[in-house]
Amino acid sequence: MLINLFKTVKAAVTTTEAAKFYGLEVSRTGMTRCPFHEDHTPSLKLDERYYCFGCQETGDVIDFTAKLFGISKSDAARKLAGDFDITPDKATSQTTVSPKPWNTERFCLNVLREYLRLLQSWKLYYAPTSPDDEMDDRFVEACQMLTSVTYLSDTLTDADLALRKLVVEILLKDGMIYDLQTYVERKTKEDAPFDNETSSCA
Ligand SMILES: [Zn+2]
Repeated sequence: MLINLFKTVKAAVTTTEAAKFYGLEVSRTGMTRCPFHEDHTPSLKLDERYYCFGCQETGDVIDFTAKLFGISKSDAARKLAGDFDITPDKATSQTTVSPKPWNTERFCLNVLREYLRLLQSWKLYYAPTSPDDEMDDRFVEACQMLTSVTYLSDTLTDADLALRKLVVEILLKDGMIYDLQTYVERKTKEDAPFDNETSSCA
C-alpha cells in the first residue's frame, strides 16, 4: 500500500510542482534558491528529481518534501497525496491538482504573486513609447489590474484570519483562482522571450 503510494505520488507530482506549491519561487529553467543550505542565488535544479549545485542535495519529490518539512518519507508521501489530491487508484497522468483547504491560502497567494509579477513586467515592457502608439492589451490589463491584485496579495500576506478567509473564498468562487493559474501560466509562456531569469529574484 505504502509502496503503491510512493510510486503514484512520484508519477503524479514533479519536484518542480511540489516546490512551487510549497511556496518556492522557481524560474522558468527550473532553478530555485535551495531551502537546504543558505543560498543567495538559485542553485537548486528542479525536474522530476532535484539536485543542488551548492550543497549536492538530491532526491525525488518525496525526499524533497520530507526534507523541506522535516518529516519522514512516508509522511511526505501522505502529505503530497493529500495536498495534490492523489489516491493510489486514480489514473496518475490525469491527476487534477486541487489543494486541500489548509494549503489553499498559500496556493492562492502564489498564483496572485505570479500574476502580479506578470502584470509588473507588462507595465514595463508594453508601455506605449509615443502618443501615436496603439495601447497594447497587456499594458491596459496591467494598468487596470495592478492595484486590486496588489491589494489581494497584500491582504493574504498581512491581514487577520477572518479577512484572509474571505479573500480565499472569493478567489475560489467558480474556480476563479484555478482559471487565473492557467491563464498566468499560458501568458508567462507566451512572454518567455522577455524573460531573463528575472522571475527568480523578484
Ligand atoms: Zn543546497
